Order: sequence, then C-alpha cells, then structure tokens
Amino acid sequence: MDKNPQAEKIYGVLGYPAKHSLSPLMHNAAFAALKINAEYKIFEKKPEELESFIRSLDKVGISGLNVTVPYKEKVIPFLNKISEEAKIIGAVNTIKVSGDYLEGFNTDAVGFLRHISEDLGFIPQGKTISLIGAGGAAKAISVALAKAGAKIISVCDIDKTKLDTLTASLKERFNKTEVRPACDIAGLNIGEADLLINATPIGMKETDACLVAGDLLHKGLLVYDLIYNPKETRLLRVAKESGCRISNGLGMLLYQGMVSFELWTGVSAPKEAMLKALS
Ligand code: NAP
Repeated sequence: MDKNPQAEKIYGVLGYPAKHSLSPLMHNAAFAALKINAEYKIFEKKPEELESFIRSLDKVGISGLNVTVPYKEKVIPFLNKISEEAKIIGAVNTIKVSGDYLEGFNTDAVGFLRHISEDLGFIPQGKTISLIGAGGAAKAISVALAKAGAKIISVCDIDKTKLDTLTASLKERFNKTEVRPACDIAGLNIGEADLLINATPIGMKETDACLVAGDLLHKGLLVYDLIYNPKETRLLRVAKESGCRISNGLGMLLYQGMVSFELWTGVSAPKEAMLKALS
C-alpha cells in the first residue's frame, strides 16, 4: 500500500529478500526533514524479474535505487555507465535514473571510509588492517582502505576461491599496499593490526561463535563489525572486554545512505534525521 500516494519521486531498495532493510526508515526520514515530496519503498524481486524491473525503472517513475543482496553484481549488465570505483569493486549498490539512462555507483566503500575517518577518527594511511571475509562488503571495504593508503591488509575467508580472487585483484591494482592472504584467523596477525574488521555474517545470530578469541586482541585496536543487528555482536563484546575500541556497522549504513541520497537529489543529506531514524 502506498504511504504517500502523492509522492512526486519514487526511490527504493532492490533485493531478494529486502523486507528487513532499514533504508526506507532512513531515506523517508531524510525526505520528511527536507520537505522533499518523495517516497522510498522496498522492491523485493525474484531473480527472473530482475531484468524487466531494471529496464522499466524510467517507465514506472523510479528515480533511484539502492541494490542489495543478491543483485549488487547482477545489475551491472543492465546499466549504461558505472563509476570507476564500482568498476574496481565489481559491485553496484546505488543506481541513478535519468530518463532511460542508468548510472551505477558503489557507496559502501565511501560510506565505510567516511564513518571510520569522520566519526571514529581512524585514518587508514600507513595502517595495518586485518579483514575477516572476502565477500561483497569486504571487496568494497578493502578497495576503500587500499585507496586511502593502508600499509598492510591481511584477509581470510573460509571460501578459498573468494579469498584468492579478492587478494589477487587488490595486489594487481594497489602496489603501495601489501596484501596478505591468510589461511585462518591466526594467520591474520591481529597482534600487529590497528584495525580488525568482521565482514562476514557471523555474529548476526545469538548462537554464532565468537570469531576471534579475546587473547588475540590488544588495547588500542579498533574492532569494527559490519553487522548492526544485533548492535553488539559477541565479537564486539569480547573486544570491549579486552580494552579495544569498538564499532558496529550502523555508521557505515548511515553514510552509504547519505552518499546515495546526495547522488539522487543533489542536496546535502540530513545526517541527524537519518541517524535518528536508524536508532
Ligand atoms: P557475503 O558476500 O556473503 O560475504 C561474506 C563472506 O564471509 C563469504 O565469503 C563467507 O564465505 C565468509 N565467511 C563466512 N563465515 C566465515 C568465517 N567463519 N570465517 C571467514 N569467512 C567467513 O556477505 P556480504 O554482503 O559481504 O556481507 C557481510 C556482512 O556485512 C553481513 O553481515 C552484512 O549484513 C554486512 N554488511 C553491512 C553493511 C553496512 O552498511 N553496515 C553493508 C554491507 C554488508 P561463505 O560464502 O563460504 O559462507
């Protein structure tokens, strides 16, 4: 049912499933705060509906989309242009619709970078980073960190093919960052790291094991878990007890949404209203 049948512009999130997304809350709060007559909806589409949906965006009056699992890579062939960063990452999470011209962007990378630098004061230049996971989010984050001048990025993943693909692509593109594939958590050398990131879904369920034992963590380490529901994963709890600084992924969600909003509307995103909607 339409919440705002008079909305002049329609935006939304495309995924499958997508109904648990927090993006509608955040973007509709932004439209309300700026008195923009627009509505942000959920578009849950089955794989067989993807192509016809993307090709009909202009005709059905959709001005912009966020794209989530499992379509961040699959939408690319239907776009007219993708940003340089989205090309390097190999995934699009934002589409801007201008008539029948579709342009793809990746705001996850810049969203993560803005959160750690602007809110957490962590500047990646010269830093040593341990990354758990080599999937979609890890790709965006590792590109952002390498572009920002990280000294060493160690990565592990239980899927060896994904690990090899990501580390080979980083090595090829960023020769100033030392990229180290690791067989397991112990191989990440967390003891040397300034930043430890969980970019796996492990921790979303209360029954999930803690990915890293407390004795591998040290004071001064920033532990960043991309998960934001629950707000504090077991990893973050253990990290806090070990004296580390911690952050969940809510800030990344906020900033990637702000950047998408600005790409679509051309106006500054209302950070406070969007954050309040997420809290
Ligand atoms: P993904 O593409 O499925 O990647 C996750 C990777 O982690 C997969 O390669 C997976 O391997 C691997 N993995 C699973 N368990 C592991 C373990 N114990 N040790 C090492 N690697 C393991 O997922 P994604 O899209 O990157 O998302 C990852 C997490 O980030 C999710 O929780 C997602 O909600 C979150 N996220 C947050 C934001 C934000 O704005 N805060 C944005 C994007 C994603 P298998 O495929 O073999 O299981």
